[in-house]
Amino acid sequence: MNYSSTRGNSEQVTSAEAIIKGLASDEGLFVPDSLPPIDEDFIESLVPLTYEERAAKVLGLFLTDYSPAEIQACVTKAYGQGKFDCQAKAPVTDLGDMQVLELWHGPTSAFKDMALQLLPQLMSTALKKTGEKSQVLILVATSGDTGKAALEGFKDVPQISIMVFYPEGGVSRIQQLQMVTQEGANVNVTAVKGNFDDAQSGVKDIFADSDFAQKLAGQNVKLSSANSINWGRLVPQIVYYFSAYADLRKAGKITKGEAINFTVPTGNFGNILAAFYAQQMGLPIHKLVCASNANNVLTDFLHSGRYDRNRQFFKTITPSMDILISSNLERLLYHLTNDKAKVAGWMQDLKTQGAYETDGQTRQLLQEKFWADWVDDQATQACIHKVYQQHKYILDTHTAVAWQVAENYQKATGDDHKMVVVSTASPYKFNGSVLNALEVSTEGLDEFALLAKLQELNTNPIPQGLGALKQKAARHQDVCAKTDMRQAVLSFIGQ
Ligand SMILES: *Cc1c(COP(=O)(O)O)cnc(C)c1O
Repeated sequence: MNYSSTRGNSEQVTSAEAIIKGLASDEGLFVPDSLPPIDEDFIESLVPLTYEERAAKVLGLFLTDYSPAEIQACVTKAYGQGKFDCQAKAPVTDLGDMQVLELWHGPTSAFKDMALQLLPQLMSTALKKTGEKSQVLILVATSGDTGKAALEGFKDVPQISIMVFYPEGGVSRIQQLQMVTQEGANVNVTAVKGNFDDAQSGVKDIFADSDFAQKLAGQNVKLSSANSINWGRLVPQIVYYFSAYADLRKAGKITKGEAINFTVPTGNFGNILAAFYAQQMGLPIHKLVCASNANNVLTDFLHSGRYDRNRQFFKTITPSMDILISSNLERLLYHLTNDKAKVAGWMQDLKTQGAYETDGQTRQLLQEKFWADWVDDQATQACIHKVYQQHKYILDTHTAVAWQVAENYQKATGDDHKMVVVSTASPYKFNGSVLNALEVSTEGLDEFALLAKLQELNTNPIPQGLGALKQKAARHQDVCAKTDMRQAVLSFIGQ
């Protein structure tokens, strides 16, 4: 299977090349030239398998240039070795009206682990397969979750090093502790004096600077990306949609071939796009429900076909969804239109005007496959409270957005297909907002007291990676001005 850019240059690459490069040379995103069709027998064959075995089968359909043994080795390194706190890796919890797909059992307690444990293995194998001899440096700008998950995934991976920039004072206390205590010989974490946009534009400028790239090449270093524009981050996410379906079959909760719905709390559109891929391949998914917070640019887009980022930006209690440009929409538009020139034009409009308008046929397709809604912070907290009252189950804030939107969908449409709510973070990771929603006072409590307080109510224990932070020493104290990020990169690789 070959991959090419969403924007129309004719460069064809293998999956290994797409994973090393991250972004196509015309700044489009790599997409597979076709989607591997699967049938009912394929799905049924997944039912008795472990998560790792299911992953190997699904990945094999896309990574056709990797041998089965290579895929097997990557999957074992990513999901084996006790890195996840439960055998199922991505279990489905039955709460009656809703099924909850828990994607936060990995080392950093957020769904990013599902992909960022595997991407480094895929990349490292790709370097071997393509004979690439350079050292690869992954640069990440993070507002919290991605940075830690990427550090944990890439630590001590041969031939690759990773540098994470976060806004000084702009991430939660627990997210900062997670990052500055990061172990590994190939990692660096630097605070940038500025906000997240400063850190992100700094990283983008570095990627676009060909003189700088040449300077790095002189030291045998190439840059790459670990965010969800990289195909190697999307493909691992397709697996858990198949796995969830297989689990429901295994538990006898759906019949062979029965269609189900997924509701996904959405930011950059990476997670829900993976569900779309699963659906296009043939997994019986009736509706994809896209849940947003007050930054509801996607809700408006899926309703109207017009994308417009020219609007107020809100800071919410679901920070991982506080985003106005959802980069992975570009891949969806390509698959819906099959027209690269059109996609390139819309992306150009987005860049120059902050908005673009799709055509009538695209709008119709969007509305056929997706349903969208958003909820504010108050409704999110009320949902956490309600679900706890009803089920003694504690949702994190992002998952609560999805739950509430799933209920809104059922109420608005009367659709009674089985609903899977995709759960993207452990409630411990957003403990303050969760405790407030449960009407527990958080006054004067530090992060560790908050964890302990939440544990009093929760049947799940404090994740090991979060509890252990208390004993860990800070290893990374670098701070740089936003104009000095290149210098920071050079001094890291010069070490
Ligand atoms: C990243 C993230 C999301 C958004 O996922 P996208 O793939 O960017 O749409 C939602 N919830 C949590 C907790 C996240 O970390």
